[in-house]
Amino acid sequence: MKQIVIIGAGLGGLAASIKLASQGIKVDVYEKNSYAGGKMMPISMGSYNFDFGPNTMTMPEVFDSVFEEAGVNPRDYFEWIKLDHHTRNFDHDGSSFVMSTDTDVMIEQFEKLDPYAATHYKSYLNEVDRLYRLSKSSFFPKMFTSWQDYMSPSLFQAVLKVRPLEKMNHFHERFFRNPLMLKAFNRYATYIGSSPYLSPATFAMIGYLEMVQGVYYIKGGNTTLANAMEQLAIELGVTFHFETLVTKIHVGIDRAERIETEDGKVQYIDEVIINGDLLKVYPSLVDEVHRPSFRDATITKVSPSISAFVIMVGLSSKLDLIHHQVYFSYDYKKEFEELFNGAWPEDPTIYISNSSYTDSAVSPDGDNLFILVNAPPTVNHSEVSLENYKEKIYSKLENHGLPIRKHRVVEKILGPDEIENRFHAFRGALYGISSNSLRNSFLRPSNQSKDIKNIYFAGGSTHPGGGSPMVVISGKNVAKHIISQARND
Ligand SMILES: Cc1cc2nc3c(=O)[nH]c(=O)nc-3n(C[C@H](O)[C@H](O)[C@H](O)COP(=O)(O)OP(=O)(O)OC[C@H]3O[C@@H](n4cnc5c(N)ncnc54)[C@H](O)[C@@H]3O)c2cc1C
Repeated sequence: MKQIVIIGAGLGGLAASIKLASQGIKVDVYEKNSYAGGKMMPISMGSYNFDFGPNTMTMPEVFDSVFEEAGVNPRDYFEWIKLDHHTRNFDHDGSSFVMSTDTDVMIEQFEKLDPYAATHYKSYLNEVDRLYRLSKSSFFPKMFTSWQDYMSPSLFQAVLKVRPLEKMNHFHERFFRNPLMLKAFNRYATYIGSSPYLSPATFAMIGYLEMVQGVYYIKGGNTTLANAMEQLAIELGVTFHFETLVTKIHVGIDRAERIETEDGKVQYIDEVIINGDLLKVYPSLVDEVHRPSFRDATITKVSPSISAFVIMVGLSSKLDLIHHQVYFSYDYKKEFEELFNGAWPEDPTIYISNSSYTDSAVSPDGDNLFILVNAPPTVNHSEVSLENYKEKIYSKLENHGLPIRKHRVVEKILGPDEIENRFHAFRGALYGISSNSLRNSFLRPSNQSKDIKNIYFAGGSTHPGGGSPMVVISGKNVAKHIISQARND
């Protein structure tokens, strides 16, 4: 029987482990942290429970398919709750609108705030539907193992059809005129850690996910999903080694032979899947001499996606908040210029998730606010005191009528350096590589090492991209490839 080792129990690693184990393959997962889920991390402070990482869940069918393909009913493991009017957006002047999958609700708001959008919204929906369908059929299901895969004529044709040369902001300007509407739709670029003024219009398809398919929450907290995946993996026979850092992959003649852990133990392998951020973890585990196609010098040139500064704060009462809200900066373009020049934005856009709005059981004594602002990746960024930055955020929120300091009971902050250290994330990036260039958007590092053929990659830095549904697709694609190779052996 084949022996597969997966390094990292992030969502990509968990998805791969389930797929492989469901086909009778022996899988060992090594994870340096004490829990499964990676960046999807549970944080509890007294009666206040928080989801660190993914708070906005989309594409529920991707996560369900992991369970269904393993022959079980996902509803026996976790439950989705659809949020109909999901995100309230505020501009600096206090004007606001709510995003909803109900087209009539959207058009009603546009009629008051953006009459141009009211007449163009249906064409917007048609266009993002088209972008989504093309990406789903051409990019998501495919595992990219080599440059030849990227250069295939059919893929090239598909790329040409998804508006690769138009920028996301330009695309949105064709449908929306009100500055707040533009900011709210442009914000989808941050779901891939990128700038809407640089990333291709292709990613406007994220609007299809939120405005047509909908935004979801998992009852009991989104981290319930990682627990459910771990439980299923164990039921299928996967062995987890938590609090076990892999320190080396030993390579023989063109093949990885064994992994070594911090405590000096070794395990022999047939194949290894690196789920940890490939930009950080691959070079730290494999000596440079064995990876001529992936030299250290190349990695330093890669542009990471944005990082984050997160405040998790539990309140003694309930404020006037829904599940998701965003308080935009005055000059959104300037904010991205600052971020990608390594600076902390002077006037940050603030996102707040308040899951207690939907699920009071996770925070019975008051709101559980997960407050996130975009932050520059680590290395070559300007230094800032996280405590001072937190106060700046609270002051801005006070101006929007949210007296957080007054009601605060528990609080924890986490910045880019900690994100880098906890998850071994390249320069603290949330979504691996940024999609600010055509090359990074369409030519991400492939899912298989070019130099050592039994090393695979699944996660946010490889294909098809960052964000929790994409990393799950990545894990499934790699596992399917290994299964089909095994059948041919
Ligand atoms: C603050 C924040 C907010 C986010 N918000 C959203 C959101 O709203 N919606 C969304 O879809 N996505 C969101 N994301 C992104 C999402 O969390 C990630 O895309 C996804 O969880 C990444 O999964 P992954 O499989 O790539 O692995 P990761 O989660 O990166 O996990 C990799 C694992 O590998 C382990 N590891 C690394 N090296 C080693 C080693 N040598 N030995 C052993 N273990 C190792 C790490 O400890 C880690 O647990 C957010 C991320 C963050 C940080």
